[in-house]
Amino acid sequence: MMNFRIGHGYDVHVLQEGLRLVLGGVEIPYTKGFVAHSDGDVAIHAICDALLGAAALGDIGLHFPDTSAEFGGIDSKILLHRVVALLKERGYAIGNVDCTIRMQRPKLRPYIDQMRHALADAMGVDDDRVSVKATTTEHLGFEGREEGVSVSAVALIYKVES
Ligand code: MG
Repeated sequence: MMNFRIGHGYDVHVLQEGLRLVLGGVEIPYTKGFVAHSDGDVAIHAICDALLGAAALGDIGLHFPDTSAEFGGIDSKILLHRVVALLKERGYAIGNVDCTIRMQRPKLRPYIDQMRHALADAMGVDDDRVSVKATTTEHLGFEGREEGVSVSAVALIYKVES
């Protein structure tokens, strides 16, 4: 029997004028960026939660508390890499990851493949196992008002036969 498990993740970060915008492991030139303890990469945080959820290992706040100075301003790709290492220790490999970014502006299409590559690289998998999608919310809600960005993610992992 194939030992598949799936997980779901969701995260929201506040956008503020004059901050760095790092999303999906890629720095994007824009007038606003994320207010956060880490680099604020809301896509990576949602993916970390999906992976941790699939393995029933809690959530990102449990493993990387935002009260810890160690994680202040940290590159979220490091967190993602560590999550994958936790899964590996328990015998899991990544099947695939998919996420949807809800953001009104800027247009993310030019950055999608770069994000997929950066995420795949941090997870140690091929790019074709990683999907990144982006949508506006037609100006509705906090994403539409550009007050924040939300990302949902799903991940499938499987137990590697030893
Ligand atoms: Mg977060």
